Amino acid sequence: MKANTVDFGIKDALAQLEIRPVNEGSSTGAINFSNGEIMESYSPVDGQIISSVKSTSRADYEEVITVATEAFKSWRTIPAPQRGEIVRQFAEKLREKKEALGKLVSYEMGKSYQEGLGEVQEMIDICDFAVGLSRQLHGLTMHSERPGHRMYEQYHPLGVVGIISAFNFPVAVWSWNAALAWVCGDVCIWKPSEKTPLCGVACQNIAAEVFKANNLPEGISCLVNGDYKVGEFMSKDTRIPLISATGSTRMGKIVAQEVAARLGKSLLELGGNNAIIVTPDADIKMTVIGAVFGAVGTAGQRCTSTRRLIIHESIYNTVKEALVDAYKQLRIGNPLDEKNHVGPLIDIDAVEMYRKALHEVVEEGGTMLVEGGVLSGEGLESGCYVKPAIAEAKPHYRIVQHETFAPILYVLKYSGGVENAIAIQNNVVQGLSSAIMTNNLREAELFLSVAGSDCGIANVNIGTSGAEIGGAFGGEKETGGGRESGSDAWKIYMRRQTNTINYTKDLPLAQGIKFDL
Ligand code: NAD
Repeated sequence: MKANTVDFGIKDALAQLEIRPVNEGSSTGAINFSNGEIMESYSPVDGQIISSVKSTSRADYEEVITVATEAFKSWRTIPAPQRGEIVRQFAEKLREKKEALGKLVSYEMGKSYQEGLGEVQEMIDICDFAVGLSRQLHGLTMHSERPGHRMYEQYHPLGVVGIISAFNFPVAVWSWNAALAWVCGDVCIWKPSEKTPLCGVACQNIAAEVFKANNLPEGISCLVNGDYKVGEFMSKDTRIPLISATGSTRMGKIVAQEVAARLGKSLLELGGNNAIIVTPDADIKMTVIGAVFGAVGTAGQRCTSTRRLIIHESIYNTVKEALVDAYKQLRIGNPLDEKNHVGPLIDIDAVEMYRKALHEVVEEGGTMLVEGGVLSGEGLESGCYVKPAIAEAKPHYRIVQHETFAPILYVLKYSGGVENAIAIQNNVVQGLSSAIMTNNLREAELFLSVAGSDCGIANVNIGTSGAEIGGAFGGEKETGGGRESGSDAWKIYMRRQTNTINYTKDLPLAQGIKFDL
């Protein structure tokens, strides 16, 4: 490990999170049966190996599912508010380890330290939400049509919940699922991205400490490591009633079919192609801040990153110039250094996708407003640092219709009324996040109406990225249709049962049917 990263406190963070340094063997994490091949985790920050992890073989996986299934039998019988108390303790541990975990997220994934801390804060927030929820898992009571009968519904846990997560939110997405699933009485098996396995190990260590301190079975929180093959063990496994999968649309289509083939449930959080509409009534200053943060934050590697800016022709040049000026001020470099705005892409493959997209937009007829490029030099040796770029393009270009997970912003011009901008916005296969910048009430309300945005998230005078945990998060169309986190997203982690009790001495049949014997 290089001196400069040690200076940012990485060594101490790894020690606090019980992750072994690279020369001291593999970190497996507590409650982990992995004995398979060694996977090395490289940091995109400096290209160094951080540590290694053993992957989960088929035989290991069988052990994990056995332990999880067994743990479910006791965990489901613990009253939900007591399960909430365990989640509360987990949040306390996260508060203690927030800086260390935030640093690991930053170093292993490449997002800024501030964003790493923000991600851990999201974990804490969802736990707090889940604690309250543990006293509110209520169903309805209905009036029975039969005299002397009581009818109500109740929610029971599903069993083992499988969580497959993406590299870009290496810890928060797991907690969105796990915190809710745990209070609901489910147990979890988590397969983190093979690009960020140490974040998985660190979270697993923290959770295991809490379960152990409360004499609870280890299988309530299980970790499996590996690539898509381990994900496949899970998606094909009839012992896992719900698979929550976050990642690319390509992955989601495969997982959805495998889970559906066994009539399991899936919760899919897939790719986005998020747009901000900028109308003549927009506040330009707010627009620029929202668009720049949305496009370059996390180096354009958020599912909610702003990829398209749909600007009215009357203010097109003004917005364009303001954007180009703002991009001149961006500082790209080590994300652990708080003066930098933009860190690296996750790996060299991602850099290649970025390069190809820039090439393609020009081939299709686009014009670069802010040129891209791969950076090199001191501190940029990983080869993963790229310049945020802006291209003027047309809505129908193939590359504009496609999600490139990189800091590339396409600016598109519209004329006429806001309905034309909405049509451009909706005319993509993805449906995750969307926004309109306007002070015009009619435009804002039309955008939010049934004739407006077709996305799962629609914001007014806020950019596309950065959602709060209190709302249900997810998107439509090829984004997969799943909802997780707040609101009533908990219901997917439970099965609903309708109960009718007859407290009379007769057996009246429903619908007035007579069946005299
Ligand atoms: P990815 O699809 O390459 O991998 C995601 C996860 O799926 C990994 O753990 C991977 O091992 C696993 N996987 C891949 N193929 C699989 C298969 N056939 N069966 C089972 N598991 C499989 O995605 P990524 O590059 O890690 O993440 C970026 C993508 O994730 C982007 O498209 C982004 O928009 C999306 N994303 C969406 C959300 C959301 O909430 N909608 C959130 C974060 C990321």
